[in-house]
Amino acid sequence: MSEADYRRVSAAGETRLLPGSGIEIIRDVELSAPPDHVLFDFDGTLSLIREGWPEVMVPMMVELLQETGTDESAQELAGIAANFVMALAGKQTIYQMIRLADEVVQRGGRAENPLHYKQIYHDRLMRKIEARREDLRTGRAAAESMLVPGAIAMLSALRERGAQLYLASGTDEEFVREEADLLGLTPYFGERLHGAVDDYLSYSKAQVIQRIFEEQEIDGARLLGFGDGYVEIENVKSAGGTAVAVASDEAGRSGEADAWKRQRLIGVGADIVIPDFQDWRPLVDYLWRGA
Ligand SMILES: [Mg+2]
Repeated sequence: MSEADYRRVSAAGETRLLPGSGIEIIRDVELSAPPDHVLFDFDGTLSLIREGWPEVMVPMMVELLQETGTDESAQELAGIAANFVMALAGKQTIYQMIRLADEVVQRGGRAENPLHYKQIYHDRLMRKIEARREDLRTGRAAAESMLVPGAIAMLSALRERGAQLYLASGTDEEFVREEADLLGLTPYFGERLHGAVDDYLSYSKAQVIQRIFEEQEIDGARLLGFGDGYVEIENVKSAGGTAVAVASDEAGRSGEADAWKRQRLIGVGADIVIPDFQDWRPLVDYLWRGA
């Protein structure tokens, strides 16, 4: 099952902040039973290791599009690439590369296999982030410095309340596992940690949710999801769950919600928007209050 592209389904009307917090309630959530299955996206939601990935992907696409001999300027191409790259963010990386191949063909170029493009991107991104991974590995950097603030406290609070935690990422699974390990997140998820595979049609975030439903008799209303991408928000909403948008400011860790992510995630039906997990306590109290 492939993943649908971004489609806006709702706009924010009047919203409110929970008093003394950065938690924005888009639509009041009143749960009759506590959430017992909680799904997390990885990059941008928990991990900041890959922060800055668009600055690797977009220039690479510009180069490849220029090779077609198009007369568009580098700046024009960067605008076009940034648009579709961000529109597809949250899906598996391969979808951005499939789109790149289409764009090459549209300009009269001969497209490579999208997996080849994905490999080039991956090699360049690794060069950018290898120092971060190495700093975590050697202990030169604390895991805390590459986590969305409050992430560990949030995961601990959910686990204490008996929720089963799942991780589903659009990044390749072997790297998700390595990076979750480097950040000390593995104990929270155990084997319930999923990422992209080469046979991309055999994996999607929607399939992870579907499997949760198949393996355990659960009610969609007891599903809670956290993410900074439209895919997971949309998937959690269509499964009948509650979706919390993490509009993280990845580069600045400012504690302010990223305006672009906020708008975009409200557009696919997020119930709540948070800038990070620093206000995990009022958030958990709010979600569990009626349950
Ligand atoms: Mg993400």
